[in-house]
Parts: sequence; C-alpha cells; structure tokens
Amino acid sequence: MDKYDVIIVGGGPAGSSCAWHLTRNGLKTAIIDKSTFPRNKVCAGWITPEVVQSLQIDLDDYAKDNILQPISSFITGIIGGSYTKSSYASPVSYGIRRCEFDDYLLQRSGATTILGEKIKSLENTGDGWQVNERYSAPLLIGAGGHFCPVVRKMGAKLGQREAVISAQEIEFAMTDEQLVQCNAAGDTPELFFCRDLKGYGWVFRKQNYLNIGLGRQDNHKLNAHIAEFVRWLKTENKIPQDIPEKMLGHAYLLYGDNHRPLLDDNVMIIGDAAGLAYAQSGEGIRPAIESALIAADTVVNAAGNYRKENLQPYAAQLEARLGKRKLRTGDAEDSALWDFFMPKLGRVAIANRWFAKNVVIDRWFLHRHVAALQY
Ligand SMILES: Cc1cc2nc3c(=O)[nH]c(=O)nc-3n(C[C@H](O)[C@H](O)[C@H](O)COP(=O)(O)OP(=O)(O)OC[C@H]3O[C@@H](n4cnc5c(N)ncnc54)[C@H](O)[C@@H]3O)c2cc1C
Repeated sequence: MDKYDVIIVGGGPAGSSCAWHLTRNGLKTAIIDKSTFPRNKVCAGWITPEVVQSLQIDLDDYAKDNILQPISSFITGIIGGSYTKSSYASPVSYGIRRCEFDDYLLQRSGATTILGEKIKSLENTGDGWQVNERYSAPLLIGAGGHFCPVVRKMGAKLGQREAVISAQEIEFAMTDEQLVQCNAAGDTPELFFCRDLKGYGWVFRKQNYLNIGLGRQDNHKLNAHIAEFVRWLKTENKIPQDIPEKMLGHAYLLYGDNHRPLLDDNVMIIGDAAGLAYAQSGEGIRPAIESALIAADTVVNAAGNYRKENLQPYAAQLEARLGKRKLRTGDAEDSALWDFFMPKLGRVAIANRWFAKNVVIDRWFLHRHVAALQY
C-alpha cells in the first residue's frame, strides 16, 4: 500500500491548486487522474487576473512555452442582433489553452502524480480511505469534475434535481487561409447571448487558435442553437467559412443550483465536483481554484484530525465567498410572466453600452468587485 497524507482524485485546476497549497505546507499528497497529461478539457480557456494572483503564476514564465493571450476588450450582444465593445486600458483577462494550463499547474503542484489510472475502488476504512486497493490516506479530496467518483461515492445523485449547463466548443489552430478570413481579434473575445437569454455563445481567438462555443441552461435543441450561432458568425464574417464541424460537449453545474455534498468525515469535494461555477458567466476555473485553496487551508489547520467538525470551516468559508447555496424553487423565475418579460428587458439592457460594460462584463464576467483570494 502506498501511503499519503492526502489523496486527490482529479488533476484539473481544482486538484492541482489544492495539492500546490498542501505540498507547500509539507503534506505528502498524491493526485490520481484517469487521463495522462497534457490532456484536453472542453473549455473556452478564459481566466481572470484573480486566478493568476491567487495561484501566484509568473506570466512571463508561463508564456515561455504556452499560449497566453492578454484581453483588454470584450464585444457583447445578442445572437442575430447588434453588439457593443467595452475596452480597458490594460489586460482584464487572459486566454489560455487548457491542455497547456492544466499541465503547467499539475507539474508545479509538488504532488506525486498517478496518471492514466481510473478510480476502480474507493474504500472507507473508518479512519481514512483506500483507493484502487493500492493507495491509502486519512483524507480523500474529490476534484474529479462534474462526474467525480468521490462525490458519487458520497451518495450524490448526479443529474437529479440539478440544473445542468450543457455546453459545446471547438478549438483549433487556424490555417493560413483561415487566418485571413478570421476577423476576431485576440485581445477582444466576443460574447453573444441567445435571444431567450438562457445561454450564450463565444468566439475567442488566442493567437492562431480559435475557440468557438455555446452553453445553455437547457439541453433542449443545443445542436440547433449552435448551428444557428455558427451560421450567423459566418454571415457576419467573424470566423472562417470552413471551421471543423465536430464540437466537443461537456456539462457542469452553477453554484446555487445544486446541493452536492462538500464534506464528511475524512473527505472533501472541490471545484466542478461540488458544482461551483459562477451563475451569471459560467466561469468555473476561479471558483474551482478558490475552493481548492480554502479546502487546503482547512486541511492544514485541521492538523491531521479530519472529522467533519474539523473540516467545517471549508464549507463556511466557501459560503462566505460565494453566498448561501439555495436551490431555485422556480416560483418566480419559472412563472409565465417572468419568462415573457425577462428576455425582452434583458435584450434591451444588454444592447445598452453602459449596462454591457458595467454590469455584463465588470460584474457578471470579471467579478471585479471580488478581490483575489490569497493565502
Ligand atoms: C464548454 C465549456 C467552456 C468553459 N469555459 C470556461 C472558461 O472559459 N473559463 C472558466 O473559468 N471556466 C470555463 N468552463 C468551466 C471550467 O471548465 C470548469 O469549471 C473547470 O474545468 C473546473 O475545474 P475542476 O478541476 O474542478 O474540474 P476538471 O477541469 O473537469 O478536472 C477534473 C479532472 O478529474 C479527472 N477525472 C474525472 N473522472 C475521474 C475518475 N473517475 N478517475 C480519475 N480522474 C478523473 C479528469 O480527467 C480531469 O482531469 C467551461 C466549461 C465548459 C463545459
């Protein structure tokens, strides 16, 4: 049996950030991931400066071997409608490629990485866990994303009473011909809301790579929404005419729309496994790494006693940061009246230049009013 202080399942941003803080505090940590890295993750690949700050990423070092696209403007609008541009004097976000970003974070995590190994068994021994009958630790952390086996083991009924966001994207290196046809600018991601405001699509260029995608609160006719979006982008000459057809899909949860467990004796859940993405933008990387750092700090303070009372500060601090979790009852939002008026009002607001910059971008997408979490 290989013994560790902490075993983390999942080496995405949540798992690697948690390990980074644990190993800096002297805890022997293993990360087990079913994939070998570098691996792709379905994502637009946009991060806010607070992520860079919280993880103390040296951007010059990062950019030596990886794509880093500074962002200083956004275009926002409604699909098929008009749009407006919000600009800033200096970078307010960055574009990264997840295959590179996740690998970079994993490599500097300081953890023992056990890659290409699926979770076959999780056995609770009373004072800790045995994983795959080979690895053991007094504390297990679930960071395996939306379908995390640890949160499933805790009894979460994945997909039941959960308002899932369904999204698809494609990211590809443009050919010389495609580069000529692409009018999207690297420093200006473009975000276009669906007319019913139940989701939005994006065009996001990172140097010679183009990322196009769309996510919605309901899975109904997702392919049709995407096809309509791509057609419109082409008529607006924003993207090349011959983009690859096959998009990749993934699901995740917004904070407040689910009640996934966060902890129990000898176990904690972080990142997408806990369903933490920001409700208005779907940004999931920042909440994933913040949950990871709060969890790691709680573990360090617990000093080896991982009974649930001792791990409770994690839940309390997460709630202080993200707000109270409360399932939407649907009483107000789902009423016919609300459904009738909301998209109309919203469409007018989004087309307004002041609202687009100060509310849509600054508050919903950049969360500029919330300072970076630092330990
Ligand atoms: C289309 C799309 C676009 C998005 N765009 C953005 C964006 O631009 N910016 C942003 O901030 N957020 C975005 N998000 C959300 C973001 O991708 C997630 O919130 C983020 O990846 C969460 O990180 P995580 O570490 O919790 O999980 P993940 O990144 O999903 O990592 C989980 C890891 O666990 C591993 N794993 C899973 N199951 C097992 C198993 N059984 N055994 C072992 N290992 C396992 C996986 O291989 C993976 O490496 C987007 C999501 C989607 C779907």
